[in-house]
This record gives sequence, structure tokens and C-alpha cells, in this order.
Amino acid sequence: MTTESTSAPNFIRNQVREEIEAGSVDTVVTRFPPEPNGFLHIGHAKSICLNFGIAEQFGGGCNLRFDDTNPAKEEQAYIDAIKADVEWLGFQWAGNVRYASDYFDQLYAWAQHLIREDKAYVDDLSAEEIREYRGTLTEPGRPSPYRDRPVAENLDLLERMRTGEFAEGGKVLRAKIDMASPNINLRDPVLYRIRHASHHQTGDKWKIYPSYDFAHGQSDAIEGVTHSLCTLEFEDHRPLYDWFLENLPVPSRPRQIEFARLNLNYTVTSKRKLKLLVDKGIVDGWDDPRMPTISGMRRRGYTASSIRKFCDMIGVTRAEGGMVDIAMLYHAIRSDLEDNAPRAMCVLKPLKVVLTNVAEDHDEVFEVPGHPARDDMGVRKLPLSREIWIDADDFMEEPPKKFFRLAPGKEVRLRNAYVIRCDEVVKNASGDIEELRCSVDFDTLGKNPEGRKVKGVIHWVSAAHAVPVEVRLYDNLFQVEAPDRDRDVDFLEHLNEQSLSVVQGYGEPSLAEIKPEDRFQFERVGYFCADRHAAAEGKRVFNRTVGLKDTWAKIQKKG
Ligand code: ATP
Ligand code: MG
Repeated sequence: MTTESTSAPNFIRNQVREEIEAGSVDTVVTRFPPEPNGFLHIGHAKSICLNFGIAEQFGGGCNLRFDDTNPAKEEQAYIDAIKADVEWLGFQWAGNVRYASDYFDQLYAWAQHLIREDKAYVDDLSAEEIREYRGTLTEPGRPSPYRDRPVAENLDLLERMRTGEFAEGGKVLRAKIDMASPNINLRDPVLYRIRHASHHQTGDKWKIYPSYDFAHGQSDAIEGVTHSLCTLEFEDHRPLYDWFLENLPVPSRPRQIEFARLNLNYTVTSKRKLKLLVDKGIVDGWDDPRMPTISGMRRRGYTASSIRKFCDMIGVTRAEGGMVDIAMLYHAIRSDLEDNAPRAMCVLKPLKVVLTNVAEDHDEVFEVPGHPARDDMGVRKLPLSREIWIDADDFMEEPPKKFFRLAPGKEVRLRNAYVIRCDEVVKNASGDIEELRCSVDFDTLGKNPEGRKVKGVIHWVSAAHAVPVEVRLYDNLFQVEAPDRDRDVDFLEHLNEQSLSVVQGYGEPSLAEIKPEDRFQFERVGYFCADRHAAAEGKRVFNRTVGLKDTWAKIQKKG
């Protein structure tokens, strides 16, 4: 795979380089640790590019480890989708896929170890009581009445928790650290909860499941992870991460380093909220092209390299609360497709034009480049016949001054073909325009008309040769920049009701045979991608990836 788009310097990469140069780190091992409770989104892409990118840059490895400690919310389908997404993004994990559940036996033994060292105990307080006893930022916590249970009793109770003797919520195992610590995470955090749930990897073997905190760092240590990169909300968990490593006989000493999570405007990046959109049927599944999921973006027409490029552009810092402009993401895909997508003409709002001086049996084919700057994309054939489709928006009966497209008595160039003049507007009984009757100036192919300037160029498709296409025009799913910022307003209130419109158009013959995910620039319109599901069923459906106008590049120029 190409590495050039995943190697922009950042503070973590710099730190790793220094450590390697100083000899304190030998081989870099990172990991990407998704919880399989939903599909990956663009925020995860940032983490993936960082973790896999660093391993790649320094010749190490990146593990894919499912953080599967909460069986109630996890599913095999999510595991499969996550693996597919990581691979599609262009990354390969080191060795086999790993699961935190691979280490359940070891974690359990380590829990027993902590008990024996008088550093853990079984607590009978309810979740609510534990919260109450925990204190606040300004008040220290109070010790649980069960805090001083003897070692043997703790070992016995933990074993009975494991085999399912107690009800969910009846008991937990907690670390015995410091109920007065200024860091609330150190006030006897929960290590194990009872869950009578079947697990996608371990079946019914376990009735207790480790907490994220107890599983994560130890899994890192077992795998020999050197740098455990996570988002800033875990910064306050780092002392706990380190406490476990210091108090357990772990085989290695990973280090946690935090970075700021990606927030993208007009978007939500929380699996819980994305799942709600799916469950409520607001979108057409996790890979709906409006979803900020990797699979949704893929279906929309994003390339893997454009997503990697975007992750490079946004960088990695510790600055919290920043919001990335979605225009930057659009810029990343647009510039990729500008260079790599073949051109085609497609009329989305068809208006019939009869070329009155073109014979019924006119048979002319223009050969035009597949891409203006890419000879390797060959040529495409554009037939012309007496009737063509143009876009209704390219005609105005009463045009304003600067309208350089078609109007009664006015001329316009058909892209790659002749200049035509509109001689007549034909309407039906209710006054709607039915067709235009235009005449061709045959002396204008590849040259300007004699004695006058024609500024406008419009796209068109020969009606006799046109292929019908369905085009899905996507817009942002939310109307406001930060749909989930306001705690008092449901983010669903901010849905953009116009996020999808479907039109039936006509494409040039080169669109007749398409494969899933074929991408095109529809000239003058935007970038489009053959919907992978529809195309697999032989249907011609295009998803609009992004329009042509680059607001991000404009902002950059001004800035
Ligand atoms: P979500 O809130 O969407 O469920 P999460 O953090 O709970 O996100 P995980 O599956 O636990 O999801 O995340 C896997 C990895 O991806 C973690 O290391 C996490 O920090 C990282 N990650 C998740 N969301 C973002 C984001 N918006 N920006 C950067 N990294 C992220
Ligand atoms: Mg999580």
C-alpha cells in the first residue's frame, strides 16, 4: 500500500522517532481497539491512520484488537464490518485478529493476584451506592463497608460470581486503591461486573466481564504494545492504566498517549447516535451514503486514499474541542476525483431539444477524451442525433443579464460539439415547456462562430443513445454545525429533511456498462459513484459524492 498519505509529522510520531533514536524503544507496536458495537466512522479513520501509519513508518506492527468486554451490545456482524473497513482503508493488521476476550483467563488470574495482594475486593454495594460512596470532584469518597473482606472470602466470592451464582448487579470486583484520591478513577474502580450474557467469542463460559480499564492496558501489555494511543477522554484514566501495570506481573510496559478526537461539523461521530439513525430507519443502514461511517463514505464514492489524505490534513494534536470543517473532507475527495475520475455527461433534469436542421438519420459521433489530462483514460464516443436532452436549468425563457446559457433567440455551445440557437419554445396546453426547437451552426465544431461570441457551454446527451439513470443527490444529514452540542435538544431535531433527493436522468452511452463503485465526473455537475448494491443487481444508480465547487480551497486562498 502507499504510505505517502499517512506520514505527516505529528507530536506522537515525533516522540516515537526520538525514542527509537534514543534506543528506549526497539520495535514499535500499536493497536487499533474498536468495540464491536457498531460500524467504524470517520473518527475511527483518524485513529486507524495514526496507529497503522506509525507502525508502518517505523517498521513495526499494528494489532487489530476487538475490545469485546460488553457482550450485550456486541455482534459478529460488527466485527466483520470493522475488519472489512480497515482492509478497505488500505491497512493490514499484524498477525491474527485479536480480542480482549482472548485474555479473559489471564485477566481473571490477575484479578485473583490483586485480591491476594490485598489490592482488590468484592463489593456488594449496588451501582448507585457505589456512585454515592465515590464522592465528587470536591469531596473525597467513602470506603465501602465490604472493603476489608478477607482475601479468602474475596477469592471465593469472585469464583462464584464467575460461575453465575449471583444476579447481575449483585456484586462487583473493585481495585483497592484510594477512596480519597483527587482522581476519581482511582477511587476503587470496578474491575469485573456480573453479566449473564452470551458472548460472541466465549459463548457462555463467563458470567463476569472485565471493565474497559481492567482489560485495556493489560491486553496492551500481553501483546507487547509499546504505544497505546487513545483519545483525550482517557487522559484521567492514565494513572489507573499505569497502576495496573505496576501492580501486576505483566510481560511488558506499554505507554498510553492521548490525542484529540475528531469532531466534524454537520456530523455526529458517536456509534450510539449512528445506531439510533439506523434503528429508527432514518437512514438506509450503516452504509447509507449520508452516514459518516467508513462503509457509508465508501458507498457515497469516497476513495480510501481520500480518507487517508483527509486524516493527514487534519493532523494529530492534543488541542481539545476543535471542529473540523466538512468542506475539508469534500476537498480531499474532490481533488482525488478531479485527477482520477473519467468524465461523462449526464443530464439530471432533462429538457428535450429538437435540432431542426439535423436530419432524422443523422449519424455523427464525436470522440472526446475520457479525462482532459489523462491520455491513459482513452476516448469516449458521443453520438449526436436530432433530439437531445439538456438540463432544464440551462434554459431560461426570460434570462437575467449574465445568463450565458440557452434562452429564446440566444446561442450556446453544446459541450464537445456545435453551437446551437434556440428558435422556438414549445409549450403544452397548461403552459409548461415541452421542448425547445433549436438550429445547429455546423460551422462551429472546434472553432468559434463567425462574427460573434458564444460564451456559454452546456452539457447534453443524444436522446436516441441516452441511458436512463437514477441519481441520488446527497446532502449533509444535519442542518446545523454541531447537531449534538446542545444537551437539551435531541440531535434528531437537527436532521436535514433534504439530505436525499432522487432524480431520473439521462447519461451518455459510456455510462451504459458500469461496475459497482465506478466513479465519474458528470461534467458541470459533480462527482458520482455507481451505487455498489444497485450496480451489483444490474441497476444504473449513481450516488452524488460531492459537487464541483470547492469551498475549502476558496477558504484557504482567502485565509
Ligand atoms: P464511539 O463514541 O463512536 O462509540 P468509541 O471511542 O467508543 O467511539 P471505540 O470502538 O471504543 O469507539 O474506538 C476505537 C478507537 O477509535 C479508540 O481508540 C478511540 O479512541 C478511537 N476513536 C473513536 N472515535 C474517535 C474520534 N472521533 N476521533 C479519533 N479517534 C476516535
Ligand atoms: Mg468506546
